[in-house]
Amino acid sequence: MADRDTRKGETYIREEIIRFAESLYARHDISLGRAFGAPSREGMPEIQVAPLEGRFLGMLCSLLAVRKAVEVGTLAGYSAIHMARGMPSGSSLWTLEKDPNHARVARENIAWANLEERVTVLEGEALASLGGLEEEAPFDAVFLDADKGRYDRYAAWAADHLRPGGLLLADNAFFFGRLLEEEPEAQAMRRFHRLVADRFEATCIPTPDGLVVAIRKE
Ligand code: SAH
Ligand code: MG
Repeated sequence: MADRDTRKGETYIREEIIRFAESLYARHDISLGRAFGAPSREGMPEIQVAPLEGRFLGMLCSLLAVRKAVEVGTLAGYSAIHMARGMPSGSSLWTLEKDPNHARVARENIAWANLEERVTVLEGEALASLGGLEEEAPFDAVFLDADKGRYDRYAAWAADHLRPGGLLLADNAFFFGRLLEEEPEAQAMRRFHRLVADRFEATCIPTPDGLVVAIRKE
């Protein structure tokens, strides 16, 4: 946001500019390249976070020295690898995935990245898995990136199970540009935003589809 046009929602982002920034800040090693390429190779949806966003997730985990984290929505494990790499040794990331094929591919990629001790893929409906994780609370970080119609419920869980000062992150917070529509998922996303604004110190960074960054209040 730098002038009147960007404040109205225009963007300077272009593919060549993204590539330049990625080449400096988000170069893939073999493990990240493998995880990033897995959705296209395996016929999965190609909806992983962008490399620069993945780096941001990892850097936030590193800045906060996150020792216990939950990710809702694993896909092929790309964002999980970024997060886990930012976490110290001996830390734990539980990542939740309902699609058995996605979970299988993610486990392979996580093993390739030598992160299987740090990262556990929990297969099943996220809300059920979250219930089973309660005994591990409080958590230092929660990242939401699964079904958008349940972000309000996931954020309520996060508000109750993050430590004070803990970090909530949520991708696709602009709901693919449909945030202000009438459809039920858009309404759920707006409830999510109201809950976050109420219970967290928070902002929504205008990445291409919005990234909420929020700290749980005391
Ligand atoms: N965070 C990943 C991308 C996740 S894509 C990355 O950036 O690399 C969203 C994933 O959430 C998909 O794999 C989808 O199968 C999963 N998902 C959708 N609804 C879910 C639910 N109710 N419970 C668990 N996983 C779900
Ligand atoms: Mg996403």
